[in-house]
Amino acid sequence: MLVNGNEILLKAREEHYGVGAFNVNDYGAVEAILGAAEETRTPVIIQIGDWTDPNAAESKAKNPWDAKMFMNFVRYRADISPVPVCIHLDHCRTYEGCIRSIKLGATSVMIDASMCSFEENIAITKKVIEAARGCGVTVEAEIGHVDGHAGDTTGKLYTTVDEAVRFYEETKVDSLAVAIGTVHGIYAEEPVLQYDRIAELRDAIPAPLVMHGASGLNAEQYKKCVERGITKINFATYMQLAGADAIEKMVDANRAAGERSRFQALYSAGVAGMRAIVKEHIGYFQTKSI
Ligand SMILES: [Zn+2]
Repeated sequence: MLVNGNEILLKAREEHYGVGAFNVNDYGAVEAILGAAEETRTPVIIQIGDWTDPNAAESKAKNPWDAKMFMNFVRYRADISPVPVCIHLDHCRTYEGCIRSIKLGATSVMIDASMCSFEENIAITKKVIEAARGCGVTVEAEIGHVDGHAGDTTGKLYTTVDEAVRFYEETKVDSLAVAIGTVHGIYAEEPVLQYDRIAELRDAIPAPLVMHGASGLNAEQYKKCVERGITKINFATYMQLAGADAIEKMVDANRAAGERSRFQALYSAGVAGMRAIVKEHIGYFQTKSI
């Protein structure tokens, strides 16, 4: 069933478990994520991009499907699922992008103004919240900054408790992405995670905490983050790699046997590879069954 972010995350925060938020750009990824969630009977968050952003040069290349058609599929598929499914817009830099996605059917949006000044971040977050609340849509914001490529281990980009409290009091945001040592993409070096900071942030504000850049951590690291108070865990990169690995493996095996590969078999193998890693991580995040 289709739900908003709060319907999944508030319960998870209360009962101390994590929920995975997995990114999709194609039909197979949707099937992989929901297949894993339905098998484990756990709530799940599907993350979409702002595909209709006219300013994003790569938006068409990233998603060749017509955005409306694809979102109709995601919404329908989520709606008929026996588990709670939230459709969340990941990293949107603009108010307009959030509105576009709400119009297309997202039940949760992230306004990411973490690159702007603290005051600007508060102002645009409040604006998005005002529009979203009227539609029953929940809002995630980010303070501190989760870098894209290299880890910052000096501590200067980590979210402070003071910032989080001030941001929450001013905005009453539904969930908050915090910088606690993870980075987006593939880790160049071992991340230094601030476990104590997670616990301090959780105690300081009632909004569920979100961890971005969660690909590549180990089971123990996920466990510690969730125990300290991370509720939503964004996971994308390794899911993409797992799907591609499964396809490569099948191609290699077919070649070794002197056989040609068929698209349907490769596609199914890719989806199965993604589904397996999603299921594995639902376990690491300790997501509770419904
Ligand atoms: Zn992110």
